[in-house]
Amino acid sequence: MTVTKKKLRLKGPYVLILKIIGGIAIIFLAVFLFYEHEIAEIMALNYSKLASKNILFSLKKDYVLSVGENATLNAAFESNSLKEEYLDNYTKIKYQKQKNLIRNINILLNKGYRVDEISLILEHGNSKDVSDFAKRDKVKYLEEFYTIDYAKLKYYDRYVAYSYETGEDEATTVLSVNLNMDKADYEDAVLVKDFSYDMLVNKHRYLSKDFEPDLVNISEDYAVEKGMKAERAALNAFIEMYKAAKKDDCNLVITSSYRSYQEQEEITETYRELYGDSYVEKYVAKPGFSEHQTGLAFDVGSQTSNIFVNSKEYTWMQENAYKYGFIYRFPKKYENITGFRNEAWHYRYVGKKMAKKIYDDDITLEEYYALYLDK
Ligand SMILES: [Zn+2]
Repeated sequence: MTVTKKKLRLKGPYVLILKIIGGIAIIFLAVFLFYEHEIAEIMALNYSKLASKNILFSLKKDYVLSVGENATLNAAFESNSLKEEYLDNYTKIKYQKQKNLIRNINILLNKGYRVDEISLILEHGNSKDVSDFAKRDKVKYLEEFYTIDYAKLKYYDRYVAYSYETGEDEATTVLSVNLNMDKADYEDAVLVKDFSYDMLVNKHRYLSKDFEPDLVNISEDYAVEKGMKAERAALNAFIEMYKAAKKDDCNLVITSSYRSYQEQEEITETYRELYGDSYVEKYVAKPGFSEHQTGLAFDVGSQTSNIFVNSKEYTWMQENAYKYGFIYRFPKKYENITGFRNEAWHYRYVGKKMAKKIYDDDITLEEYYALYLDK
């Protein structure tokens, strides 16, 4: 009995060490639990774990709690670029998911931009645009252009130059430059690679030589001659429209539809021989720049009248084409936007929803593109 008792009893110093270790462990646990609790309190306001940790260690917890949820502040505490003297500014700048966000904000604040101006800057470009913009001297006309939704930060100089040269208002300036209309026709044009029903092809946006949509043959019932082709869905929509027109005693006919790059080339040459260079420059789209190559464009005629614009079919198309997904592509009043003179016969398939929007808002395909598609 006594032997066993002796074995179990630990000697004085060991007990003390164990007690100390136990004590330290309890302190660590308490600190850990306290830390976890503090972090959780910050994270409850949607701050990341990293940001919350940095907030806690920089002793800014109370400040952050008083601000509440704030994505820009969160980004600041996640970033190495954070400057304590700018904390209040960060909270007032609209967050954007961008690389170097805080670094760029610091630079812009240094240059003397206000927080609302910085929000505008961040909103109208990507990380690269903002980084580039941050490198330049403070600009003069920020609100003038960037309170317009679709204005692009990277075009600042072109906006200033265009509005100076033309005297146009800011909205027109932004629209025109976004559509490359500050450049001459065919100059620095953008290559359109992919087919889509909302694609935009004009004197600033072109198709490659081998671009070809999903083509089908057009039956002679709907066209002036054999062998014409059009894009599949566009032709189906045309046939639906053709039948509806017929019910209203209107007889439509397709006079021209899909034209390949090579065919456009031939047309250009024919017109050049007939009417000369300046006519071609003005009225005939260069190969690649014709909407007819998309397979979505139709020149429409009347089976009863030679002059389409005077026919009842023209009037019918003006009132009804949009219901079948077609838009009147080159109205007289918008020649300056489309870049093409009025063509009473030229219709373009875009799909019903988009056609209705363009019809209701009385805008061009160019404007639709700039407002809704060019992000
Ligand atoms: Zn046409």
